[in-house]
Amino acid sequence: MISLEDARSLVLGQVEPLGIEEAPILDMIGRVAAEDLTSDINISPFANSAMDGFAMRAAQLEGASPDAPVELDVIAEVPAGAWYGGEIGEGQCVRIMTGAPLPEAADSVVKYEIVDVVLGDGRVGSRVAFTAPTALGSCVRAAGEEAKAGEVIVHAGEVVHSAGVGFLAGCGVTRCKTYRRPRVAIIATGSELVEPTEVPSQGKIRNSNSYALAACAIDAGAEPTVLPISPDDFEGLRAEVVAAAAEYDFVVTSGGAANGDYDFIKKVVDDAGELLMTTVNMRPGKAQTFGVVDGTPVFGLPGNPAAAYLGFEMIIRPALRKMQGYSHFERPHVEARLAASTKKKDPRRIFNRATLSKDGEGYLVTLAKNQSSGLFGPIQKSNCFVVLPEGEARVFEEGELVDCVLLDIPEEVLL
Ligand code: AMP
Ligand code: MG
Repeated sequence: MISLEDARSLVLGQVEPLGIEEAPILDMIGRVAAEDLTSDINISPFANSAMDGFAMRAAQLEGASPDAPVELDVIAEVPAGAWYGGEIGEGQCVRIMTGAPLPEAADSVVKYEIVDVVLGDGRVGSRVAFTAPTALGSCVRAAGEEAKAGEVIVHAGEVVHSAGVGFLAGCGVTRCKTYRRPRVAIIATGSELVEPTEVPSQGKIRNSNSYALAACAIDAGAEPTVLPISPDDFEGLRAEVVAAAAEYDFVVTSGGAANGDYDFIKKVVDDAGELLMTTVNMRPGKAQTFGVVDGTPVFGLPGNPAAAYLGFEMIIRPALRKMQGYSHFERPHVEARLAASTKKKDPRRIFNRATLSKDGEGYLVTLAKNQSSGLFGPIQKSNCFVVLPEGEARVFEEGELVDCVLLDIPEEVLL
């Protein structure tokens, strides 16, 4: 039995970033850029006004005060998209809108709200008064403020977020090289399983794992395919795993991973490829099988839903992320006070479904009543797992600080 950290390293060691493809920027949300991206022009291409107001040289307003306002004639108007290339004389200014190019003859903008119109309506032909000086460059956004032409704006390895999609669009980048999404085969094994569309007959249950695991795969950026249920039969499972290993980037099975009479995944991996791992020091989910078949990673998760889910989230997800070029593999953790005491009965590292909340003293965590490894429901209703470390069985007291891992929050986030 190996530690969770060793299991993760072992699996990470068997995968590499996949091939590179080009994606339109809207398909880049949350994905890793596989190349340095540059802007073709300065962003913004020209100095422009940050406010609706009046443009002039700051020196024209020197000494302005409520008692001795500086009055200027409005000689032109520059809306966004227009251009004013003329002179601005000593007693003159230009009406300007947000985003409009700053005239070359001006160096500053004063917003409307603090300018008094003394003659006319404030538009061309009017006279306006300034009751205070303005700082050189006030309300002006410099040319190239966000990016210079030719400058790298997103580096290879960087995750592109929604704002980044806009940044790229502004810089003229509409397509981006990224790592291909891993194609993940998902195989449920068990002679008791029927599809969710069926009402199970006596002794049968619905295959819920494949759908949770496909959902986890999508959440990890992968492209899952739910393959047909494989009954508990060595030859049948072997054939399905071998065929999947030939076609997909990663094969995930659930069920039949322990030592029962009808548990075949370890034997299948050992027989068809190389078996590298069988058990991990965690609960739920000790029986975690991993190996390589035909060069493809094959992971045999346990059948119990919570155990399968945890194995996927803790060990498979980091591997699928590495295949897509991500460099963070650790979900955010926080320390929280236990809302009630709990007995740890097993020396393994225990993951308990729980709900984290915040009060005046910090984080408080309440364990779900039902910790059965056979259930998805309590995970759906929880927002974290409490991690009770390896070691002697003991009581964790109310108020004791415990580590909580937040499985719904991206790895990059620091809490
Ligand atoms: P196993 O690991 O095959 O011994 O299965 C452990 C438990 O998980 C049994 O109660 C199985 O019926 C259940 N189980 C196995 N596969 C699935 C699945 N795909 N969906 C839901 N439950 C499952
Ligand atoms: Mg089974």
